[in-house]
Amino acid sequence: MSKEICVIGVGYVGLVTGAGFADLGNNVVCLNRSQLKCDNLKQGIIPIYEPGLEEIVRRNIDAGRLHFTTDYAEAMKDADLVFVAVGTPTGTEGEADLAYVQESVEGVADVMTRPVVIINKSTVPIGTGDWVAKIVSRRTDIAFSVVSNPEFLREGSSVYDFYNPDRVVLGSTNPEAAEAVADVYRPLNCPILITDLRTAEMIKYASNAFLATRISFINEMSAICEELGADVTVVARGMGMDKRIGLHFLNAGVGWGGSCFPKDVKALEYMASVHGCHPQLLRAVMDINRDQRRQVLLKLRAILGDLDEKVIGILGLSFKPNTDDMRDAPSIDIIHLLQLEGVEVRAYDPVAIDNARRLLSNVTFCENPYQVAEGADAIVLITEWNEFKQLDMDRIKAAMRGPVLIDGRNIYEPAQMRAKGFTYRGIGRGYNGSSNNQE
Ligand code: NAD
Repeated sequence: MSKEICVIGVGYVGLVTGAGFADLGNNVVCLNRSQLKCDNLKQGIIPIYEPGLEEIVRRNIDAGRLHFTTDYAEAMKDADLVFVAVGTPTGTEGEADLAYVQESVEGVADVMTRPVVIINKSTVPIGTGDWVAKIVSRRTDIAFSVVSNPEFLREGSSVYDFYNPDRVVLGSTNPEAAEAVADVYRPLNCPILITDLRTAEMIKYASNAFLATRISFINEMSAICEELGADVTVVARGMGMDKRIGLHFLNAGVGWGGSCFPKDVKALEYMASVHGCHPQLLRAVMDINRDQRRQVLLKLRAILGDLDEKVIGILGLSFKPNTDDMRDAPSIDIIHLLQLEGVEVRAYDPVAIDNARRLLSNVTFCENPYQVAEGADAIVLITEWNEFKQLDMDRIKAAMRGPVLIDGRNIYEPAQMRAKGFTYRGIGRGYNGSSNNQE
């Protein structure tokens, strides 16, 4: 049976969740603080770039199942289930900042007129479910339950992930509340794991920390490969063919970024530390990732020497392809490192330039990759957008002042690039041409 659902927050998680549940036949009200965002959403104009999302939003607005408001009382009027999907950014000490979660659940408690289930979809520290229950019970006598329902969607394919989750995790002290939430996921025919609040919260952090660990692991291998003359891309493929290992998250490159891994690994390390644990693996995973950003600088210095006044073209700014999200994008750190050396930076990204402008200064933003190449001493590929895989590399080279190509995601064939006259460096591709003696 369809449910009355309120979703708080209309970012990558909230809007996909709200639109997705509406598409499954539920009546959904999405609550947001910004009147402008709300007005735009009512017309089907979405505030983020997410393939396929606008169509679902428009379809469900037209069907009368998806609504937007800035008013808690209106959003909560008929709600049985309230999904909290607001941001939980990094606080001053590395902890997750729960200010938006607190504001949301206080807002809910203050207007509740009937029993509801409050569902934490935001990534929140272990123990937050209990904390939310305390906040709400101090402000209302009406019955409610708290369920943890961590989100695992990937930006860029979040619509697909909504309809095809590997699993849904639900944690609660109240089995009936967990079952009520499970009901809205049942049409998706996916495995549903029901557990206690803290275990559910921990599953999210452990999952992200593990994925980040895999990337840092292969990045550490890439440095060893480079020194010893092996190709990390083939090493990863050979490892991944082992079913116990698998192929995912074994791409060496300039490291992980984005709105989740950096803050979640940091928050888990923080939680572990303040509880007297010694999370040395998590610290190493973050250290390796930080070092990985410097690879670009070291490779450029090794080829070009002093970088002062050199012109470097950047391909790709978003933290990964198919998103406009610039949060903790490797491009930001790499561009800052280059600018400290006196480099003049030119850059292009298919969708993230507007967001990048707000975060980066003294960068010449270009309209396409060929413009980036004009007068450049080197090109650095940072984000592996598909459109960069099929570039006319002869045209790129002809526009450049020098022939240096740093492939920060290993998307090009080293031998082909060398044959075109590029001084090519990938990440961890010792045998195939990264090392100097292969020139
Ligand atoms: P986001 O920044 O894109 O969106 C957050 C939304 O919440 C914004 O629309 C913001 O305006 C709104 N908001 C903040 N405070 C509010 C309040 N008091 N009332 C109403 N609206 C409020 O964030 P996101 O990427 O969607 O992430 C949300 C949560 O989900 C985070 O905890 C994140 O770690 C987690 N998560 C994100 C992803 C992802 O890929 N982005 C994946 C899994 C989990």
